[in-house]
Amino acid sequence: MKLYGTMEIGPNGHLYIGGCDAVELAKQWGTPLYVMDEAEIRRRAKAYKQVLAENYPDSRVIYAGKTFMTTAMCRIMEEEGLGLDVVSGGELYTAIAAGFPTENIYLHGNNKSEAELEMALEHRVGRIVVDNLYELETLERLASARKEKVQILLRVTPGVEAHTHSYIRTGQIDSKFGFGLENGLAKEAVERALQLQYVELIGLHCHIGSQILGLDSFDVTIEVMLDFVAKLKAELKWECRELSLGGGLGIRYTAKDEEVSIEEFGTRIANKLKSEAEKLSLDLPTLVVEPGRSIAGEAGTTLYTVGSIKEIPGIRKYVAVDGGMGDNPRVALYQAEYQALLANRANEPATDVVSIAGKCCESGDMLIWDLKVPEPKSGDILAVFCTGAYNYSMASNYNRLPRPAVVLVKDGNADLIVKRETYEDLVRLDTVPARLASKKMKIAL
Ligand SMILES: *Cc1c(COP(=O)(O)O)cnc(C)c1O
Repeated sequence: MKLYGTMEIGPNGHLYIGGCDAVELAKQWGTPLYVMDEAEIRRRAKAYKQVLAENYPDSRVIYAGKTFMTTAMCRIMEEEGLGLDVVSGGELYTAIAAGFPTENIYLHGNNKSEAELEMALEHRVGRIVVDNLYELETLERLASARKEKVQILLRVTPGVEAHTHSYIRTGQIDSKFGFGLENGLAKEAVERALQLQYVELIGLHCHIGSQILGLDSFDVTIEVMLDFVAKLKAELKWECRELSLGGGLGIRYTAKDEEVSIEEFGTRIANKLKSEAEKLSLDLPTLVVEPGRSIAGEAGTTLYTVGSIKEIPGIRKYVAVDGGMGDNPRVALYQAEYQALLANRANEPATDVVSIAGKCCESGDMLIWDLKVPEPKSGDILAVFCTGAYNYSMASNYNRLPRPAVVLVKDGNADLIVKRETYEDLVRLDTVPARLASKKMKIAL
């Protein structure tokens, strides 16, 4: 089985991540537990920076915070010289709390509130990626009230739909995001933005999907976007100075996923952009990429403790763990597939086939179907791989399960970066109207 990042199997047969024994981590911090491999996060951030520095120096790497964002993660991204893409006031607040340089922040979202836009202006974020005309007009109004210019990109829907291994080109794309190219809305939006006084249109943005392993879809996107850039130059005399291709590079969750490296991705898009720009006699724009999953995904592992085991003879063995869709909703949401091993018996041959169930009151709360493992016993520690992206950030308190802690491991050290929620946290925001109050209540009114 493929191990990720700094993982290795120790002489004691235990899984080690960042030099830390996963069984000890589970003992010390409890389970479920998210473990983030700092060296792997940094390696991937550096890989993006380096491949673009070599192939397209005028570029920026902006980490997509929605993937996995905490104050410590913001600190790591800043240390690695990446910018940050945020999609809400809450993400922006987290970045500000971490002292992240706001000029390197891009604000996204298809329905930013006025309060979020105000917050972005107040803190002078680097770019606002405008999604629709309502937002464009609101932003002009807010910026003019402040008498301060704001630099924007317009989000374009290029009509390229990426699937994991390929793409389709659609005409009128059906998406809640951005301005469509085919229907002329994108051009109209550019024209409108150019009339505005306080909004300064710097460039264009697109994002064609996520978990993309077929690089051909990025080639097509670059062709479509540069054709549009050439058209805008010819017809409106407007030059696109910055082009963001969004995120989307996939990772290898299981052996079914092809391995596509950050180096291959970076070289491919840089070369394609250069050759298309040359073909169309365009000046090279600043290139922006917004990777999320491909930075955090493989760096994360979730540790669980095995509890009840139920065998239905001739059908299936259910092995239940102490987490599930509350800490990892991706299986229920997208039929995502994961690999896992028993962290305390990582050397033993996988002689059993079991299905890993969560503890939520939903039949759909399954983590893995048909996993090969040594015959599991209650008390074993199950390590599920590649949970660094869209797990912690999508976690909920469904069934009033407290959300797990997150530890950052590196060189044999483990640091807590998010505390485990407590039962008190679960009732902390509850209030009780006086007519329902009772002396028996254990919470303060
Ligand atoms: C989600 C998102 C990303 C990151 O996508 P990944 O597939 O995780 O790399 C980047 N940009 C935008 C606008 C997004 O919505």
